[in-house]
Formats: sequence, structure tokens, C-alpha cells
Amino acid sequence: MEDTDLTNKKIVIIGGGPAGTAVAFELRKLSKEIKITIIEQSKYTAYSPCALPYVVGREIYAPEKIFVYNKEDYIDNKINLMNRVIAQKVDVKSKSITILEEDRLVDLTYDYLIIATGSVNNIPKIPGIENTRYTIMKTIDDARELMEDRGRKAIIIGAGITGVELAGVLSKTKQVTLIDKSNILNTILDKDMSERLKLSIEAMGIIVKEDTIIDKIEEEKIFIDDEILRFDTLVIAAGMNANTELAKQMGLIIDKAIVVNKFMQTSEPNIYACGDAVELNNNIFSSKTLSMQESTAVAQAKVVATNILRQEKAFNFVFCPTILKTRDIIVGATGVTETYAEKHGIKTVSSIVTGVSKSEYFPFGKPFTLKLVFDNERKILGMQIFGQEEIAGRINTITMALQKGANVDDICSLEMVYNPAISPQIDPLIIAAELCRKKFVLLPKKEEKRTKKGLFIFRKKNRKNE
Ligand SMILES: Cc1cc2nc3c(=O)[nH]c(=O)nc-3n(C[C@H](O)[C@H](O)[C@H](O)COP(=O)(O)OP(=O)(O)OC[C@H]3O[C@@H](n4cnc5c(N)ncnc54)[C@H](O)[C@@H]3O)c2cc1C
Repeated sequence: MEDTDLTNKKIVIIGGGPAGTAVAFELRKLSKEIKITIIEQSKYTAYSPCALPYVVGREIYAPEKIFVYNKEDYIDNKINLMNRVIAQKVDVKSKSITILEEDRLVDLTYDYLIIATGSVNNIPKIPGIENTRYTIMKTIDDARELMEDRGRKAIIIGAGITGVELAGVLSKTKQVTLIDKSNILNTILDKDMSERLKLSIEAMGIIVKEDTIIDKIEEEKIFIDDEILRFDTLVIAAGMNANTELAKQMGLIIDKAIVVNKFMQTSEPNIYACGDAVELNNNIFSSKTLSMQESTAVAQAKVVATNILRQEKAFNFVFCPTILKTRDIIVGATGVTETYAEKHGIKTVSSIVTGVSKSEYFPFGKPFTLKLVFDNERKILGMQIFGQEEIAGRINTITMALQKGANVDDICSLEMVYNPAISPQIDPLIIAAELCRKKFVLLPKKEEKRTKKGLFIFRKKNRKNE
């Protein structure tokens, strides 16, 4: 029989990061009665890890500012936050968790369990790395460590989101070299966009080494072929992995990360999971993906809280809109890249346009570059963009277009605001879509060689649209 009386039920959340914390506070908003406990291995209340690069760069002067809740907030909301406690083992049959608290093992029971164990840094297997002092960028303690003055030469391994953000802040006071085995931001940018962005990053004085394999690290030196690079500070920013250790040990189904259904339920019905530790559905190719975004973690957390309280809510798909800042350059993307689409066997049509954030004749407009990607059925697949202002709004617009399954004609006919001091008269987004639409007109000729059926579909659609 379904358990409908949730009064006095014990909800235990493992992980007090953005996902676990959002579940706890949302649950409390929805129910005054249930008992909520958070088990968190660090000594901290919840803060936003997204702010850490700005703490390192001293754009946020006081690290305390990034805390979202203080101890009193938990007490006032009757949320039992257990800090410096590690969840070591969960017995799903007896619904009990073995925790390590001040060198003692203690058993806790639960009615519903939420796994919000987040992610852990990927440390590449470079010879010599185990004997090298390096910093990662995951916690407030890491940020404080990176703020220590260790000399002027910094090397960052990994040109992903964190690596690129840190390169920007560290390059204000240090000589920074950014090394990656692929191209800059390769998970969100195609090579053609990444090459353009690289010029702006190099203009900040940052040395960028792409497609580079490090041979070894030895005594504050990095060896690459016959080159030796010396460093005072070494940062490893080589991506994140879902932290699934505990979930694995519990026997939950794991694929790329913890597998959940659309209600965020794991393979055990009274155990939910959310945040960086779970795998999600990517609507574009019905493939599985990891979001690793706080925005996604918090949205999922709300779904978890609602479902525990039997008010059914689904978390369906993600398009992973992403945004980051490095010095005064903002980079973002939504949906998938052309490279990713082609890897999934999808043919694409794309265009790159550079525009200005205000009317061209208006002083102090800032240039930006964007790329739109469509599939050969004319449906929007994604956007990549970088520039100095008005970036987030365009990413959000295209994310909405992705959610609605918009096609090239929908984007071409988007109504966009205009004021010379604020925006261009014809938005580069529309120009990029129009360029793609022109390419679609040419496409049937190419398709003719390939498939007669494909040709028929294209001709029919083009006749309708042109
Ligand atoms: C430098 C940086 C910048 C970022 N910038 C952005 C951004 O601009 N925008 C954005 O949307 N996202 C950003 N992110 C990503 C975002 O921070 C994560 O998506 C978010 O933190 C995920 O939340 P989470 O609670 O799932 O995981 P986590 O933040 O990893 O939290 C998991 C928590 O679980 C605890 N834990 C794990 N195992 C146990 C255990 N066995 N027992 C007890 N406690 C345990 C950990 O101590 C941790 O506190 C950034 C991340 C970093 C590191």
C-alpha cells in the first residue's frame, strides 16, 4: 500500500552541496512536519562553488560572501545539518546508513534517502603527478590555497570551463600557461569557434597549448616533447566525474552516473538522487549526458522534494545551457556542438556570425561571435557564443527554442527588441539563422547523390518555406 502519511518520516540527504541543500530547504517549504537530516563531510554550510574563480580573482573580496545559508538558517528551518560526518555505507534492506563521526561509526535509519554526493575532480594519469604539489578547484579551501602567493608562473592543465575561468583570473597577476590535450572548451565549442576564442584568450597574455600531451611532471617542471615549462603554481582542471562510490556500494544502477527515472528515483524506490552525481536525458538525440551545472542540480532538487511529498513532478530533459567568464570575455553554449552531432551520425548545417552588441553607429558596442547549428531536418541543435555583453539572453533564447523544438524558420522570424544604445537593429542571431536557411536551399543538390528519399523530403520542405 502506498505510504501517504509523511508526518514524522525521516528524510536523510547525503551531501550538503547545492543539490542536497536545495532538496532540504524545498522539502521544508512544502512540509512543516517531516524530519530532515543532511550528512556533509566538510565543515561548511552551503555555498556556491560557481563563485570560487571570482574569490580567487578577488572580484569577490570576502570569501564568506559566497555562503548561501548560515548555521542559523538550518536551525530556524529545523534541518539537522551534520558537518564533518561521512556516510560510509548504506544498507538498503534495513534502511540504515553507517556514518563516521569523530572517529566513531554510528548507524542512522531513514525512510527516504537522497544521494547528492556530487562530483570529484578528474586527475589525469601523468607520470610524476603523484609526487607533485598541485591545486584543484572544487571547494572554498581550494580557492584559499590558490590565493597563496607562490610565485609568478602558473600552469593550468585542462582548458575546460574551470581552467579557462581560472586562466582569466590568475593572468591578472601571473604568467599563465593553459594546456589541453584537445582544443579550448572542447565540450561546448566546435574547433572553428574555439580557434576564434583562442585569439581573445591569447590577447590577455595567456599562453595556450592545445592538442598537447604532457610527458611527465618533475620538480615543478612540465615536460612536453623537448620543451620544459617551469611552474610555481600548478592547477589541475581536467574535468569532473560523478561521485558514485557510495551508490555503487549500495547496489544502485550506475551507467555514466547514477541512473534515475524522470521522478529522480534511483533503482531503489525510496532512494532519490540529484545533482552532479546523476545521469540525465539529452532530448536532442535521446542520449545520456552529465550536466555538472548548479542550475540543473537545483532544478532537479526541487523535483526530488516534490516527489517525496507525493506531488508528482517530472524532470525531463536537459539542454545544458552553460556560461562562463574569463576576464571580460563571456563564453556560453546551449544544446550540442556540430562535432557532437556528427559523432551521433547527424548531418548538420551551421553558420558563424560576428556582430556588435549595440547598433554599429552607437559608441562602445562590444563585438560578439555566435554559431548556430541545425540538423538537416532544419531543427535547431545548439548555439555557441562569446563576446563581452548581451550573451546570457541569447543563450536563454536558444534554450527555449530547443525546448520547443524550433526550426530555422522559427529562429529567422524571432521578434527581437531593438534600441540603438542596447541592441543591433537586425540581431546576429537572426542573420546566422538566415545564412543557415540559405544553405538549406543548396542542400538537396548534395543530398541527390546520397538518397532519393532524402531528396524528396528536402525539396518538399524547401518549396514550402521559400
Ligand atoms: C569552480 C567551479 C565553478 C562552477 N561554475 C558554475 C557556474 O558558473 N554555473 C553552474 O551552473 N555550475 C557551476 N559549477 C558546477 C556546480 O558547482 C555543480 O554543478 C554543483 O556544485 C553540483 O552540486 P551537487 O550538490 O550535486 O554536488 P557538489 O557540489 O559536488 O556537492 C556534493 C557534496 O556532497 C558531499 N559528500 C560527498 N560524498 C559524501 C559522503 N559520503 N558523506 C558526506 N558528504 C559527502 C561533498 O562534501 C559535497 O559537499 C561550477 C563548479 C566549480 C567547481
